[in-house]
Amino acid sequence: MNESQRWRGDDGGGEVDIFAMSFKSVLGQSQPKKILMNALRNGSVAHAYLFYGQESIGKKKLAIALAKSLNCKQPDPLDACGECESCLKIERRVHPDFFFIEPAKSTPTSREAVIKIETIRELQKKLAYLPYEGKTKVVVIDSADLLNHQASNSFLKTLEEPPSSTVLILISSNPHKLLPTLLSRCQGIQFHRLHSSDVRKIIQSKIAAAGESLTESELDFHAQRSQGSVNRALAENFAETEVLREQLLEVLEKVSFDRMDIVFAFAKTWAKQTEQLQSVLNELSGLIRDLAFHRAGCVPSNIQSDDLSVRMMEVAQTRSLQAWLGRFIAVRNTHAALSGNANAQLFLENMLIEFCEAA
Ligand SMILES: [Zn+2]
Repeated sequence: MNESQRWRGDDGGGEVDIFAMSFKSVLGQSQPKKILMNALRNGSVAHAYLFYGQESIGKKKLAIALAKSLNCKQPDPLDACGECESCLKIERRVHPDFFFIEPAKSTPTSREAVIKIETIRELQKKLAYLPYEGKTKVVVIDSADLLNHQASNSFLKTLEEPPSSTVLILISSNPHKLLPTLLSRCQGIQFHRLHSSDVRKIIQSKIAAAGESLTESELDFHAQRSQGSVNRALAENFAETEVLREQLLEVLEKVSFDRMDIVFAFAKTWAKQTEQLQSVLNELSGLIRDLAFHRAGCVPSNIQSDDLSVRMMEVAQTRSLQAWLGRFIAVRNTHAALSGNANAQLFLENMLIEFCEAA
């Protein structure tokens, strides 16, 4: 199990997640929370919602918090208590009126997970009855854009004639992939990327819950580079990234027309590692951006070890600001070319030769 799997937990199905207890315990997302709490207050909760926005920013947590609020036995006054039998059953996904649907692979070797029509038909049968234990049946469809065509059409019927005492919540990071007819029948609520200070708090709690710890600079590193997404933050390994940045810094420092061996070695190594190539190029452009900041006398926002910071300040001074910007453009053009079917080795060599020219 790697670091990110160990800490994540929130995508792992029925695990109890201490971060999804109620509205107030979901960090950030003040606008979606306000909309939902107003609806609860006014008794105007919609039949169907679409929660959309990038991965891992709290959509699922807020959907679960809404399901709890609608069924809590001792709400406070609009938020779920997170402690009653109903809240705990929803948390464990064993409440008879709470339905959580997510894509599944048909066989372990299937390439893609989907939500099939059989799953939707089974759900529809259950929705035909009144709530069994709670007040409102709540259906959460995670990654709703992975409903296959038949399943989407079948679910459309449920949206067109929503069963009584039922709230349907679709969750998607790719809402443009949903059928327009589905979209038009849901109230859309947009989720925004989390502030890095919220990501930092979430990471800190998750790591503490796993009985582990990170240094302050490691926490800063994960939060700063998260782009507002908790899973993205946790997927990154501080030590590995630091080693990669050191290697790339050396290439940036030493590559020149006198050191064409660096050009060929770099292109040969990374052209073979197609899966990592995009992230290497991302790292390279981030590094050049930071070097340009240093060269211009500003402090870059990226976090790295003190050793690397000192080296970067030295390397930054070896080129003009113009030269760093020229290199930045070369990386960006290569990135664009390689997202097509371009010959990676050739384009990487070309990029490094442009580095030499920009010196
Ligand atoms: Zn409760």
